[in-house]
Amino acid sequence: MSKAQETVLEINLNALTHNYTFLRSRLSPNVKFMGVVKAFAYGSDSVEISKKLEEIGADYLAIAYAEEGVTLRNSGVMLPILVLHSQMVSFDTIIDRCLEPAMYSKRILREFILTAEKCGQKNYPVHLKFNTGLNRLGFNESEVAEVLQILKNTDAVKVASIFSHLAASEDLNEREFTSNQIASFTRIASEVDKGLAYKPFKHLANTSGILNFPEAHFDMVRSGIGLYGFGNETQYDEKLVPIATLKTNISQIHEIKANQSVGYNRAFKADTHMTTATLPIGHADGIGRIYGNGKGIVSVHGKAAPIIGNTCMDMIMIDITGIDCAEGDEVILFGPEAKANSFAERAKTISYELITGISQRVKRKIINT
Ligand SMILES: *Cc1c(COP(=O)(O)O)cnc(C)c1O
Repeated sequence: MSKAQETVLEINLNALTHNYTFLRSRLSPNVKFMGVVKAFAYGSDSVEISKKLEEIGADYLAIAYAEEGVTLRNSGVMLPILVLHSQMVSFDTIIDRCLEPAMYSKRILREFILTAEKCGQKNYPVHLKFNTGLNRLGFNESEVAEVLQILKNTDAVKVASIFSHLAASEDLNEREFTSNQIASFTRIASEVDKGLAYKPFKHLANTSGILNFPEAHFDMVRSGIGLYGFGNETQYDEKLVPIATLKTNISQIHEIKANQSVGYNRAFKADTHMTTATLPIGHADGIGRIYGNGKGIVSVHGKAAPIIGNTCMDMIMIDITGIDCAEGDEVILFGPEAKANSFAERAKTISYELITGISQRVKRKIINT
């Protein structure tokens, strides 16, 4: 049996290539691909993922905040990088590191133009973000004329693309809502095209948009979760391979007698004699308290072992009664077989939250298998 030395998150770059190839296969050849690598590439390793995406032919990267792009530029990543949620305080950094900001409000657009003018920029690439129903970030459809007017008065910036974001692309019960978003985006796109002397490219679809709405691919798609191995639907999950495996090892085994308790607050009480194992991973590593008390189930030599009692900061305890294992043996929390989306769903959350929450204390290990 292999003995893990410590808690690690293994990142399989071959699985990333597999997922990229599958997602690409759903697109017309002329559609560009933006890899979304925000939040440490969904909790994996943004530098390694970005470099691999650059190598295998992605056209663009997206991050949420400028500082994430500084890390990528410092590591030599050359692809164009869209900053989805650009903040005024980072405009200088954005220009300094050749990052491309999303413009989502008149306030942000006016201020960025001032910064670009002050820095002597000409045609600095910006991306116009429109709100078509998510009501999170973006200009409204009613603001197109005003936005065009602001842009007419400067040559410091140039619109590289216009985009919007789908609110429920994974939910086919909301098909009509999504179709309305696509229609709104199409109207906005043609209005912007008419108002500018050039044609910015258009993008709307996230992973589920790619898979469920081919009519929403436009000139480019933006995929995050699909690259990391999840398709928000069983039929697509089967086609994708989770790139990350969270593994640890058994620190100590305890024999617990009936009526004894395990962990803080005595949250677990044994009915009968049982065997428990203590693992060196806790809520400070991203396995939150929501996974305590039987919600999270880990895998010991392929056998299911539930987390018992409350999750501690640095440890969890699992029930290994009847499982043939020893101290030092490997334990898998999630990976290509025991999938993170199932782990998350038992605690009523989603793969996105679980994988992005694996903290920086957990060592990342890059593999290619
Ligand atoms: C995070 C994000 C994406 C990626 O979404 P997935 O569902 O992970 O593919 C795409 N576009 C925007 C604007 C985002 O914020």
